[in-house]
Amino acid sequence: MPSQGRRSQPLPKGWERRIRPRILNRDGHICQWPVEANPRGICGEPANQVDHKTPTHLGGPETDENYWALCQWHHDRKTAREASAAAHARRAPRARPRESHPGLLP
Ligand SMILES: [Zn+2]
Repeated sequence: MPSQGRRSQPLPKGWERRIRPRILNRDGHICQWPVEANPRGICGEPANQVDHKTPTHLGGPETDENYWALCQWHHDRKTAREASAAAHARRAPRARPRESHPGLLP
């Protein structure tokens, strides 16, 4: 794996002018986040964000199939979760000293 910068990759050319509006239109300006409890199975709130379903740093392609419209809240939530997952992944390979758990030992 190549080492990754902290920031996500630059957005593809035409993102603001062409791609974002295209995806928002395709998805009807409605948040596509899956919410099983809702009748349509999605969040359904007004969307003003376009996001990569699979982030590019995890190999997600720059294709319409990998874009979806999200509401601000779901986008923030997803971004925060990905950031914390990435931070976790950066820490993980380092030797994690095995903490002793005296309570579990005889
Ligand atoms: Zn939403």
